[in-house]
Amino acid sequence: MKKMSLQVFNSLSRKKEVFRPLHEGRVGMYVCGPTVYSDVHLGNCRTFTSFDVIYRYLLFLGYKVRYVRNITDVGHLVGDADEVSNGEDKLAKQAKLEQLQPMEIAQKYSNGFHEMMRVFNNLPPSIEPTATGHIPEQIEMVQQILDNGYAYVKNGSVYFNTEKFIKEKGTYGQLSGRVVEELLTETRDNLKSQSEKNHPSDFAIWMKAHQGHLMQWKSPWSVGFPGWHLECSAMSTKYLGTEFDIHGGGNDLKFPHHENEIAQNEAACHHTGAKYWLHANMLLLNGKKMSKSDGNTITPQQLFLGDSDKISKGYSPMAVRYFMLQAHYRSTLDITDEGLQAAEKGYRKLMDTNSILHKLEYTGKPKIDTATEQEVNDLINGIYEGMNDDFNTAKSIARMMELSSFIYKFKNQQLPIQSISKNTFDTLQQTYHQFIYQVFGLQDESTNSNSKSDTALSGLMNLIIDMRKQARENKDWATADKIRDVLKEVNIALKDSKEGTSWSME
Ligand code: AMP
Ligand code: ZN
Repeated sequence: MKKMSLQVFNSLSRKKEVFRPLHEGRVGMYVCGPTVYSDVHLGNCRTFTSFDVIYRYLLFLGYKVRYVRNITDVGHLVGDADEVSNGEDKLAKQAKLEQLQPMEIAQKYSNGFHEMMRVFNNLPPSIEPTATGHIPEQIEMVQQILDNGYAYVKNGSVYFNTEKFIKEKGTYGQLSGRVVEELLTETRDNLKSQSEKNHPSDFAIWMKAHQGHLMQWKSPWSVGFPGWHLECSAMSTKYLGTEFDIHGGGNDLKFPHHENEIAQNEAACHHTGAKYWLHANMLLLNGKKMSKSDGNTITPQQLFLGDSDKISKGYSPMAVRYFMLQAHYRSTLDITDEGLQAAEKGYRKLMDTNSILHKLEYTGKPKIDTATEQEVNDLINGIYEGMNDDFNTAKSIARMMELSSFIYKFKNQQLPIQSISKNTFDTLQQTYHQFIYQVFGLQDESTNSNSKSDTALSGLMNLIIDMRKQARENKDWATADKIRDVLKEVNIALKDSKEGTSWSME
């Protein structure tokens, strides 16, 4: 029932559509991943968190999801998404600056990216392909586009023939809403190669490497490297097929990246790829897009530590995640100190409400008050309705906050818990918990190992386990047993295995 009512805003049609996957019960989703040439910034984190919640909700609805999110480690040129580019690869440029190999840069910043995804509690994708790991697939796609007549070779580089594509297919520009004339007068990539192009709007799908270019591969046309847009076409079709359900990314990627992806897919495979295009809106800082290239950023670390003149104090990862969830993924979100402070309070309230609800017990005979019963049920349904309305986390959270006042009244006995049915109470308990943890991916920081007290606890536990080990080595069984028993009394269980002793709270 819940599955049937999911609506998603499709950037292609510019309207909300009922979500119907191509294959019953299964969803294929591709999201453009990071370009790993510098530390991930909060704007990136917002986009990946938005898609994490989308992924989580699809899983929650029972779909079997294959979530592919790539790593761009070649081909993304400086200024690629802007008006002009100087033709320098972002990773290669950084490699020179840091005096490292491009692959060391890719590894270093991929590690940082993964760490940050873990801190924000974003689930790993099912497949995380790298562009450099898929050069043969990209060469094959360039060949297909050439064979189908939508590209031409000039001095070892291969260009997509936009004029011919527009004439024959007429679909270029649909996603970004750009009109053909506008597209045909625009200049979008590698300035140095402008003279080689038949038309200014053509874009390179394979580039011949100039001397000293750090990353290059052999191809039928030249020793060179693939165009940035090509990797996503090649990897999405490889892992999800020529037709798949969802393609996502930040909305700054609509043009030229996604528009060119669609054109490449159509030209190579006679199919545009994804059925639904989802675009996440930008995170702003002081009203301006947060961007690595403009230097208008705040790093997650700065935000956690309060180490920036833009904020008055540090905010925990889950308070920041909650801050992001309070806005719909298609709205812009401006980072402000006040907004973060409100989010911190909101997050704490949600977690506290959940723990109160968890401890409440439904006892005694129901004395149902129809109005309360109805209102609570409507609010529970409202949580689903929010998410079913194009993953509107803001709406769902608002309903949960409204439910919070009922839960506090039950706790303070201002309202008898029996005024709702046992069934409604059970659904409330379950839905609240599931949305917080499974759908929103929030964690309770008071019990998570990041907190200071937990660090202290784990240090103490290591010490105690060491002491017990020594006692056992000395065949002092009495002390070893005493340690185990005393810990048991405070609900800490020890488990011995070949690898050593581990502990857990019961
Ligand atoms: P990049 O590493 O620049 O290739 O970007 C990775 C992802 O982050 C892309 O989907 C971008 O659209 C997205 N992104 C970049 N800047 C922002 C921002 N300020 N707010 C939200 N998403 C962003
Ligand atoms: Zn992409």
